[in-house]
Amino acid sequence: MSFLETNIEFLKGVGPTRAELLQKELGIFKFKHLVQHYPFRYIDRSKFYKIAEVNAELPNIQVIGRLGNVEELGKPRSKRLRAEFYDDTGVLELVWFKGVKWIKGSLKPGVTYVLFGKPSVFNGKLNVAHPDLEPLSKANAHTKSALQPVYNTTEKLNSRGLNSKGIEKLQKVLIPQLKGKVKETLSPEVIEDYRLMSRDEAIQQIHFPEDVKALQRAQLRLKFEELFFIQLQILRMKLYRQQATKGFVFEQVGEHFNTFYSNHIPFELTNAQKRVIKEIRKDLRVGQQMNRLLQGDVGSGKTMVSLLVMLLAIDNGYQAALMAPTEILATQHFETIEEQLRDMNLNVALLTGSTKTAERKELHEKLLSGELNILIGTHALLEDKVKFQNLGLVVIDEQHRFGVAQRSKMWKKNTLPPHVLVMSATPIPRTLAMTLYGDLDVSVIDELPPGRKPIQTNHFFERSRLKVFGFIKNEIQKGRQVYVVYPLIEESETLDLKNLDEGYESIKRAFPEFQVSVVHGRMKAADKDFEMNRFVKGETQIMVATTVIEVGVNVPNASVMVIENAERFGLSQLHQLRGRVGRGAEQSYCVLMTGEKLSKEARTRMETMVRTNDGFEVAEEDLKLRGPGDLMGTQQSGALNLQLADLAKDDQILQLARNAAAQILKVDPNLEFPAHQNIKEAFTRFMKSRPNWSRIS
Ligand code: ADP
Ligand code: MG
Repeated sequence: MSFLETNIEFLKGVGPTRAELLQKELGIFKFKHLVQHYPFRYIDRSKFYKIAEVNAELPNIQVIGRLGNVEELGKPRSKRLRAEFYDDTGVLELVWFKGVKWIKGSLKPGVTYVLFGKPSVFNGKLNVAHPDLEPLSKANAHTKSALQPVYNTTEKLNSRGLNSKGIEKLQKVLIPQLKGKVKETLSPEVIEDYRLMSRDEAIQQIHFPEDVKALQRAQLRLKFEELFFIQLQILRMKLYRQQATKGFVFEQVGEHFNTFYSNHIPFELTNAQKRVIKEIRKDLRVGQQMNRLLQGDVGSGKTMVSLLVMLLAIDNGYQAALMAPTEILATQHFETIEEQLRDMNLNVALLTGSTKTAERKELHEKLLSGELNILIGTHALLEDKVKFQNLGLVVIDEQHRFGVAQRSKMWKKNTLPPHVLVMSATPIPRTLAMTLYGDLDVSVIDELPPGRKPIQTNHFFERSRLKVFGFIKNEIQKGRQVYVVYPLIEESETLDLKNLDEGYESIKRAFPEFQVSVVHGRMKAADKDFEMNRFVKGETQIMVATTVIEVGVNVPNASVMVIENAERFGLSQLHQLRGRVGRGAEQSYCVLMTGEKLSKEARTRMETMVRTNDGFEVAEEDLKLRGPGDLMGTQQSGALNLQLADLAKDDQILQLARNAAAQILKVDPNLEFPAHQNIKEAFTRFMKSRPNWSRIS
């Protein structure tokens, strides 16, 4: 057994009790886990401040000075300790609220100390609360490394002496023992080409850096490695798919495509739409199964792209299917597409949960005989009974709503897997797409059709509600429709329903002259559809809903989106909701309603929404605020357990790591070269520790 596999209990200074705590609190079971418990920041111990230079804006600082009078203040139960700290430029006040008695006993007035702490201002005076004080000589003795590591820890560990310093002590026992013994995981060539520090050296430097430069190199090395193995996995999967998954060849652009293109499209395609169609056509000719993600902001015209691709399939003798996550959306697609294909002599059908048995039977037959060209529907398409004569293309709308297993069911509906085009309006930042969906090809529609008026977004506090209601009334009187959306968070569904119910009541009271629909996730599908339809048809003017309306619904006449408790929504969800309006010719508005008190992060979210309509900008901001794990939702968060690399910032390192991985796979796809043995071993370990997450359809 290797040294690194040793149980943490056996490290000097740990023992059974602390071992149990380390396991529970930080997941540190073995030596190797402690090694990977990297510092999350460092304190520069090389710089000393004069008291005259100190201000409350500074982070933790060091000052050399003499301790003055120490006095106890306050009542017996809430005692404080106050002391003065001098140098030749001024005086600082030091305060302690805890451990007063013990600290007082340990302080020696008149002695020169090195003070370490965070300055702040209280009652107009500079002070430092709970500073570290070390007598000057002793402090000097161990400022060997100027950068002191700071480790993550927890309340519980803290109370058992394992604060950051305590963990640092353990690292000081372990890390030096590893010197010269850490196995390299990259090849000599990669290390040389990218001028990386060795793994052995990096482990030493990340915990106890010699200086800033060494620390940066150590971080680069370890981030590179982290991203390298993810990229290796993704690129291998892609390679495998290209080799193994044969696909249908769509050779020709035929009559249907051409006729439709020149005579039936009611508008000029945007350049982005044209480019994307070209990218897709290229995929369809090469004899491999297409697995492409089509990204485009809400309203960017993805449906038209998918329709043209479906016509390509038909021109080559295949059938096509379009699957949407809700009945409403599937029905809308069906109606639009049927309308657009009128006079084209093609058969389109709709299949959902509410399709009647007799109709279903007829539909099954027509599918098998090949009489049906395009089938549009919901999850109902996945059923085994739904068999095609020759399915060549599957389009999946709003892909994030489908599970992986569900999507892959469509693969089995022909002898070779049909081509797959998944469409998503949730913009994924480039780094994340490369990491998470790296084995897919990605096309982006980065342009909206001309003539759209940008949606105006405003943020209002609760106190302006009357004004907002007045505005709503005004818009409805102009003939528009309005959404009012309430948050729905799973843990507190009852509470949220109460919010929604109360909201519904208050809206009915405020607008007695208008009709109001209500839709939420607890309703039966049929009731939901009934209510939605009333709104779609314009029978109701206001739609009160939870986020169930987030996906794809198209009501061009709706021009106002009011989001209640907007602070409880994430950025991408806010953006999705906003995308429900702005689909018609009229100026549209998004109103964010929040409580008066907002966290700093919530404020940033509101400001971002007000500032930009650009989905990618919103997504980048979201990535910065929340980190990639949260961004993708719990389902995929485990996939991106990055320890050091930060996808919002380490774009360049990611690109380098990806290049390195690609270069290696190009010459040695199975990692068989002797020079790649380090990589192979480390990769095998890496794969064992990861779920297979990156295939999305
Ligand atoms: P999404 O990408 O959100 O699915 P849709 O495909 O629903 O967007 O398109 C939104 C609206 O824009 C539709 O009414 C569609 O007919 C229209 N549209 C699509 N492409 C164009 C274009 N090039 N010019 C004008 N309107 C377009
Ligand atoms: Mg759509």
